[in-house]
Amino acid sequence: MSESNLELLLKLQEVDCECDSIEFRLSAIKNHKYLNELESKMAGLGSQKAMLIKTGQRLDSDITAIEEKGELIRRKIGDLDAKLYHQRDLNPKDLQVIASEIEHQKRLLDEVDDEELQLLDKSSEGESSLNYFLLEESKILAQIENLKTELNAESAGLKVRLAGFGDEIAELRGKISEEYLKIYDKIRSTGKPVAIGQLLNGKCTACSVDIATAEINKMTASKDELNYCEQCGCILVI
Ligand SMILES: [Zn+2]
Repeated sequence: MSESNLELLLKLQEVDCECDSIEFRLSAIKNHKYLNELESKMAGLGSQKAMLIKTGQRLDSDITAIEEKGELIRRKIGDLDAKLYHQRDLNPKDLQVIASEIEHQKRLLDEVDDEELQLLDKSSEGESSLNYFLLEESKILAQIENLKTELNAESAGLKVRLAGFGDEIAELRGKISEEYLKIYDKIRSTGKPVAIGQLLNGKCTACSVDIATAEINKMTASKDELNYCEQCGCILVI
């Protein structure tokens, strides 16, 4: 005996539900939460890294400037020293002026050297942070690559499975009457995952709600017609 429309619809629904779950997984892969998290983490690291590089460049030019400043002062001190020790015709007052100018320049040089040290410290701190970010970035990049490879393989496998169901669905639909297919499709188009359920132990298998005995009796009497669950609206196989 060939299978009835309802039996075929139940089979079709099984395959359709399998396809739904594959499609659900495919869309979850397409918009993968963890992958998105990793990618936004990566973007965050990228902008922090860019900021550190910019700060580093600014520090480098500040260090060059302060080094030049120090060099100028050192040259000035050298000139003053030369004046002090090699010029014989200086009177004590001039000597005093030169000596105090040398002291002044040496104090300035100390200040400049301190400033340079501070800048060098900041620069090496920045470099350590940058190295940390680069390391983090390469770790996350590797995670992203691995995850993408994994997801791409899973997605390819799912697509093959999905395509494999195509013939089965077409064959089943070819055997079911237009009228039944129309109803089945209409219920499924409302977003309900299950369009057809069975009456099992007095319950609808689609919504698990008890069906009143009077209702069961009524449906059993009209078994050959299409019956629907009053609770969830799906076709009910008695
Ligand atoms: Zn139901």
